[in-house]
Formats: sequence, C-alpha cells, structure tokens
Amino acid sequence: MNEWCELDKKHFIHPTSSIQQQQEKGPKVIMESGEGIYLKDIHGKTYMDAMSSLWNVHIGHGREELAIAAAEQMKTLAFSSAFSTFSHKPGIKLAEKIASLAPENLNAVFFTSGGSESNDTAIKLVHHYWRIQNRPNRRKIIALKRSYHGVAAASTSATGIPEFWDMAGTTIEGFSHAASTYRSNTESAISALREKIEAEGPETVGAFIAEPVQGAGGVLIPPEGYFKEIRNLCDEYGILFVADEVITGFGRTGRMFGIENWNTVPDMITFAKGVTSGYAPLGGVLVSDAIHEVFKLKSKGTLFHGFTYSGHPTAAAVALKNLDIIESEGLVDHSHRMGKKLLKGFKKLKDEINIVGDVRAVGLLGAVELVKNSETNEKFPQDLKVAPRVIEALHERGVICRAVTYEGIDIICFAPPLIINEGQIDELLTKLEESILEVK
Ligand code: PLP
Repeated sequence: MNEWCELDKKHFIHPTSSIQQQQEKGPKVIMESGEGIYLKDIHGKTYMDAMSSLWNVHIGHGREELAIAAAEQMKTLAFSSAFSTFSHKPGIKLAEKIASLAPENLNAVFFTSGGSESNDTAIKLVHHYWRIQNRPNRRKIIALKRSYHGVAAASTSATGIPEFWDMAGTTIEGFSHAASTYRSNTESAISALREKIEAEGPETVGAFIAEPVQGAGGVLIPPEGYFKEIRNLCDEYGILFVADEVITGFGRTGRMFGIENWNTVPDMITFAKGVTSGYAPLGGVLVSDAIHEVFKLKSKGTLFHGFTYSGHPTAAAVALKNLDIIESEGLVDHSHRMGKKLLKGFKKLKDEINIVGDVRAVGLLGAVELVKNSETNEKFPQDLKVAPRVIEALHERGVICRAVTYEGIDIICFAPPLIINEGQIDELLTKLEESILEVK
C-alpha cells in the first residue's frame, strides 16, 4: 500500500462508491496522466479509457489546445459574474454556438456547472413556465424507470433508480416513473406512459423527461418510432418534453444531439459532460423559442435561480475550443462510423459466444449483455457476479469499462472517446472477447 492510498483512505470521500470497500482496499487505481484514449496510473500502467471516464471525454485526454484556451481566458478574465445585468464574451459566444448546433427552435441557453444542476434547472424552468401562464397546478414531472438524471434534489427525484432515493432520505412530491423501453416495443412503452399521465391527471403534469438513450440504466436504446410517439403524446396532453442529453449530447451517438437520431425536437435539452469533454465543469439547459418567448413576455421580476458559476468564462472558453475540435475534426460523423464498426464486432461476439445476449450501439454508446442462455435471455445467478468479473478481466488487460447489474441483468457498457480509431476498436473487441471467455 503506497502513501497515496493511505492518504486517500484517510481524507478522500469518493462519489458514488463504497466507503467500506475503500477503507478495506484503498483506491484500485490512482491515475496520473492521459493521452488520447489512454490513461496512465501512478505505476505507469496504461488503460484504454473505453468509458471516456464518465461518458464525457469526447475528444480524448491531454489535448493541449484546451489547456491553452483555459490559460488564455484565465489570463484575460478568469471569472466574472453573469448575474443580473452583467455578461461576458465567452458566455455570449458559447450560448450562440450551442444554439447553432442544437435542433431547430432551441436557441436560448441557461448555464450550469454540470448535469445534475442542469436537470434541476430544467425542472424549475418547467415550473416557472407554467406558473407565469397561470397554470401552477401543472407541477408533476414524469420520468422513466431506470433513468439517471443526477443527484441534486429534483434530479434525484427524477432518477428512476431507487437506490439514489434512499440516499436523499426522501424524494420531492410530484415525481413518478413510467416503464422504460427496455425489452419493450414502442406501442407498449407509449401506452404505459399514457396510462401514467391519465393516472396522474393530465392537467397536473408539467413535463416528461427522458434520456434519448438511457445511459447509467444500461445503455437502453429506444425502439424505432418511440420518440416520435413521445412528441405526439406530449403535444396531445400539452406536456413539455425535456431531453436529458447529458450523455448523448455533442456527438456521442453519431449525431450532434442524441434525439436527432429519431427526428424529434424536444422543448428543452439539458447538457453537460461532452460540451467540455470534461476539461472544465459546465452544463446547461437549452429552451425552445416558444418557451423563451413566454419567459420574455410574462416573466416579471427576478428569475430566482442562478449558480455562481453559471456561464463561467474559463469553462465557456474551454467549451468553445472543445466544440471547435469536435466540428473541425468531424468527430460526430466519425462517432457514427466507428459506432457501426463497434456494433458489428459486438454482433460477431454474439454469434460466437453463447453467453453473449443482446448487443446494441448507437454511435459510440454501446452495451453487451451476458446471459446464461442467449436463446431465452435467462439471467445468470446474481452471486456469480458475471459482469463485475468481466470488468475485472478487462481491467487486467488494461481496459476500463462499466458494469451495470440491474435486477440481475449483467450489462457491460461502452462509451469510448469519439477519437477512437479502427485499430483501437479491434483492440477493444479482442480484449472483450478474451475477458468474456475467461469468465465463461
Ligand atoms: N443526466 C445524465 C443522463 C447523466 O448520465 C448524468 C451523469 O452521469 C447526469 C444527468 C448528472 O450529471 P452530473 O454528474 O454532471 O451532475
């Protein structure tokens, strides 16, 4: 046990982790540097970061351009307020840039420091929107089971993974969850949502929030036509549709925004992660012109919502440079092409290894399920810990992925940096195959 481990155990409470395990074993890896799709730990071991760390390092590690953009902005104006009547150039430029990248009619941005703040902000903006239109009873928010929207007050309540509610002690009243699209077709998923809206009382529902692809729930890709029907259903009941693009934004799914894969335009988009590729904390909420118009006409007095770091100039400068790289290097199309190759490789594994069940990917967001019987989708007993053992075997081979075990279903998730090349995808697939065969 080296001194870093001891100091870590003593002083560092890690996010989303087991404190007991940390005390017993200390951190498994202490990273020191990163370059491209690879990370290096303090012992010099190299890892392929096949999760883009937390689904966020789109342009890869160690990009000097971003360090320069941050340093230049820090030297000029590291921070200044965007509250009240103050503004600054990086914030203005970034709002304009994101509006230009977003689907039609989404042209105004409220900045935050990350995904949880973005979803809490979106939910507050939904309340605000209905309140100023004299519809304060439209306070309820419907999300999906197995969704992940973050860990702030409202985003925890919107999250559809109950373990997160226990930590909050209580959830906010007015949140409920409809069946996810997992192993479902559009018709039954939509009728489940319709039933939920009817049960809640359509006149009391303010918004429906969903990730275009449910990430932390196990990379759940919706069936064809689902989001078109969601749009229709929300319009039918006059409910706002918020797309949580915290994972799917900025090229992850082979389109600039994930929802574009299904030709649907939401009323709000929340984003974070890939907007800066993790080089600085920044997120935000894009709102439609129609909502913005209502705000402009009817929002009297102060909007009592804002973070010290809303639109942070240095984070904004970093985001601008990151988006510039995503565009100039054609990373959105590249993600689409590499995603196809990744999916082809997953399908080959499915054909060759009998414990590989469902496989899926959209752009560079993918998953492989491991099952006892791929014909019947029978799960492995939970105590076998199949997915965690595959992750461990991958780790030994220097690949970082994430295991999701949900209701006993073993899922291995993948979200490599958008700069991954064909050879590196082959390397990933080979090591995945070896790891599955080792555990099988
Ligand atoms: N929404 C989604 C879809 C996410 O995956 C996450 C984080 O993983 C969040 C929101 C929360 O973002 P943050 O961790 O930046 O608060």
